Amino acid sequence: MGEFELIRNYFAAAPCAQGGEGIALGIGDDCALLALPVGEQLAISTDTLVAGVHFSDPCDPFLLGQRSLAVAVSDLAAMGANPLAFTLALTTPTVDADWLQRYAQGLNLMAQRCGVGLVGGDTTRGPLSLTLTVFGRVPAGQALTRSGAQPGDLLCVGGELGNAAGALPLVLGQRSADATIAEPLLAHYWSPQPQLALGLALRGKATSAMDISDGLLADCGHIAKASSVSLLIERQQLPLSGALLAFVGDDEARVAALSGGDDYVLAFTLPPSELAPLLADGWPIHVIGRVEAGQGVTLLDGNGQDITPAIRGYQHFRETLE
Ligand code: ADP
Ligand code: MG
Repeated sequence: MGEFELIRNYFAAAPCAQGGEGIALGIGDDCALLALPVGEQLAISTDTLVAGVHFSDPCDPFLLGQRSLAVAVSDLAAMGANPLAFTLALTTPTVDADWLQRYAQGLNLMAQRCGVGLVGGDTTRGPLSLTLTVFGRVPAGQALTRSGAQPGDLLCVGGELGNAAGALPLVLGQRSADATIAEPLLAHYWSPQPQLALGLALRGKATSAMDISDGLLADCGHIAKASSVSLLIERQQLPLSGALLAFVGDDEARVAALSGGDDYVLAFTLPPSELAPLLADGWPIHVIGRVEAGQGVTLLDGNGQDITPAIRGYQHFRETLE
């Protein structure tokens, strides 16, 4: 099978590649064309997943298909953008029909769940890696950025933390657990659900937002820096799942929530007056701290003592840069 047959069979033929709202021209030409309503801006984000770095190889290609798109779409959720389309640059060492079919099926499922169409990509030979670029739309000036947090705001997250990091020993086959524990943790790792609806609900309310991919402490550092404020996180307020607590215990669960990556839950700052109406509407919002004047991220124990750890999250190249 050549490059063009591969593209046609597995990607151009996928249900998620058949166009949709906002897609004026999809796969097959030199470019795709997206139609943006007047007054809206295009939100764009790229994520690369490299075998052996971002996922173990071999792994289930169906799950990889879901996950590779979910982590990319999560960035649209974090901006309060409506998903429009995505492209896929696939580098693969061999043409394995079964692998490609299952990867495309997982990708397609997540694409349909997120309402996003495949509009193009690139296909090359080499060590397995996947680069997905997502496109979304947002009314001009209404995107949720990292830079608007204000002293007095509440620091919030959109769901339980640490589940994906807790799942890692299961993913790597280092540990096993009962299905009641393993299944929910593995589901968080392999098919995180981008919080698109929450992102839209936060437009015009949250003063800053991002999705947690590198760990809460590290990612809150980005908001603190971009907004020139200090973020205080209360360790006792971190929302933790029953499965994570049962699997690793309270201490390790809090470490996973603070420093583990791959949660893809939104973290955002909210003026206190905005909280009650959002909770009344049923949004899964947990207040985990507050914004003050100053800089950086501080972790507080139950007595308000500073217990900030030195190492905050994963960074590529850190070992070579330090
Ligand atoms: P070009 O040489 O102009 O870059 P390609 O031959 O690489 O075009 O691709 C042909 C068409 O197929 C283009 O529309 C491209 O966007 C699309 N395409 C290539 N690879 C993929 C892929 N992995 N998934 C989806 N579309 C793809
Ligand atoms: Mg090309």
